[in-house]
Amino acid sequence: MNNELLEEQSFQNIYIAGIDGKRFDITIKNGRFSSIVESINSQTQSNSPSKDLWISPGIIDLHTHLAWTDFDHDDQLKRDELEIEAMQAQAFEATLRAGVTTVRDAGGLLPSTAQHIGKYYSQPLRVHTCGDMLGAGDAQGLKHLERRVTEIVHSGASWIKILATGGLGSPPDTVLNPTFSKKEFSFIVSSAHARGVKVLVHTWGGITVDWAVHAGVESIEHGMYMTEAQAGQLAQSRTAFVPTASIYRIAADPAGVLALNSEICDRAARAAEAHPKAISYAKSAGVRMGFGTDYATPALHGSNLAELDTLIDCGLTRKEAWQAATETAAEILGYGNSLGRIEENFIADAVIFDADPLKSQDAQALQNSIVSVIRGATELE
Ligand SMILES: [Zn+2]
Repeated sequence: MNNELLEEQSFQNIYIAGIDGKRFDITIKNGRFSSIVESINSQTQSNSPSKDLWISPGIIDLHTHLAWTDFDHDDQLKRDELEIEAMQAQAFEATLRAGVTTVRDAGGLLPSTAQHIGKYYSQPLRVHTCGDMLGAGDAQGLKHLERRVTEIVHSGASWIKILATGGLGSPPDTVLNPTFSKKEFSFIVSSAHARGVKVLVHTWGGITVDWAVHAGVESIEHGMYMTEAQAGQLAQSRTAFVPTASIYRIAADPAGVLALNSEICDRAARAAEAHPKAISYAKSAGVRMGFGTDYATPALHGSNLAELDTLIDCGLTRKEAWQAATETAAEILGYGNSLGRIEENFIADAVIFDADPLKSQDAQALQNSIVSVIRGATELE
């Protein structure tokens, strides 16, 4: 399989994932789809069905952590710098191999590191960053926050990440307690927006979901304890919801790749149990849902497609899950007019499969059916 930065290529008689019974001739020029026309012999059966190919927009993972090499940050500090960098480059490579052509790194990856790895390790993964995250240690008033937001924006980040509640590290009875005051929270959002930077909010639920909607953030992450009324507010305000559902199932398994202690496994299991309800509220309210994995260790990078299976398990159809990972994800990033669809003039980030990806059994079968991953034009607009 080859992951290529593609300038020109054409496909004959190829299926577009999600459009049944029609084949297309597709030409890519200058890294964009320059022509997409229905094939003349579109309806006829192929003589060799084993050679049928499907094209889909590249998958967009809206919540990954490519810079982290260990579940516990202290373990990363024991590694030497070059080892960390090589592991980060491997994370880029594994992610792209899974058909993910664009990511939004949800914290930890500095824009300069992303650029360095792209250039020196020749990794064409498209990366949006939020750099350093704002968390409990930053609840020190508006002056401090003003300085922090400025620093993060100057580092080149295009998003600001707010850790608004606890997570797996917090006991269940305090996990929804807000990290910041309401005033601090709103200040971060307005400072970010004033600088043209978008905001994503880590919240498991509670009052910070209301604050996020009120302040006009672009997306909330995890949200497993959101209420039905909050889902309605998210839908109305067009605030995106990125559930990152699979990571909690993985973390809940004491024998799984993360092998966490029983207390953390128990917290993860509660979160995993709550997610289907939140996702069903969001689905019925019509919330814009995006695909994100929250994968953050070498054992997880590259298995990104597993999130599709979990979203389906939580009540989305395969088509809805696919939409969350392509078209809707591109919209959430702010590039819905150039990325995330197989359409003329759109950037030719794509995955070629040798089986219909929307009829795939599971993530493993889907991954096995990838023939190649294509990265199109560099410029996003
Ligand atoms: Zn995360």
